[in-house]
Amino acid sequence: MTHEHDDHDHEHGSELSEMQLRVRALETVLAEKGYIDQAALDAIVEAYETKVGPHTGARVVAKAWSDPAFKEALLADASKAVASFGLLNRVGDHLIAVENTPKRHNMIVCTLCSCYPWEVLGLPPVWYKSAPYRSRAVSDPRGVLADFGVKLPAGTDIRVWDSTAETRFIVLPMRPAGTDGWSEERLAMLVTRNSMIGTGLPKDPKEAA
Ligand code: FE
Repeated sequence: MTHEHDDHDHEHGSELSEMQLRVRALETVLAEKGYIDQAALDAIVEAYETKVGPHTGARVVAKAWSDPAFKEALLADASKAVASFGLLNRVGDHLIAVENTPKRHNMIVCTLCSCYPWEVLGLPPVWYKSAPYRSRAVSDPRGVLADFGVKLPAGTDIRVWDSTAETRFIVLPMRPAGTDGWSEERLAMLVTRNSMIGTGLPKDPKEAA
């Protein structure tokens, strides 16, 4: 399988893009040959559009903050650890969780196209697929973070992880101070999508209250 590409964001009225036409044609052929079940395909698309989203990743992060054994399992094999959440995990996908520390901040990009940990973060934001993000995340990660309003201490290194169709990453942000004794549900509300891409930080507990 080749590296994945998303359909384009721009609209052409009611006309389908070349990519959408190709996808339709392929779907039709596969359905005619009995390789795919249209209803099953629709259910998967529906799940990604409505059920799968960053709230899922937020639950994973909150559990890692609360449960040291789960955190260890997540960092050891994120694909396996998130399977306990009953997530759709596509065959061949490999999910890696990278932990932020005071010394290291992690950021995720797909320099080639738009590979993204869909099963935990849902659909990627538009900027994630943009050429400027894809190139600058690598050449000037600190500048990109500044654009997102994130300023890290000078002593914090930034590590950028390049996703592929087979290997995707989720950032495990640092648990905010002042959250001792918080439930997982409450902690999850602090976990933003961008904090799991590494272009943001969790919400401030005081502001979230
Ligand atoms: Fe990609």
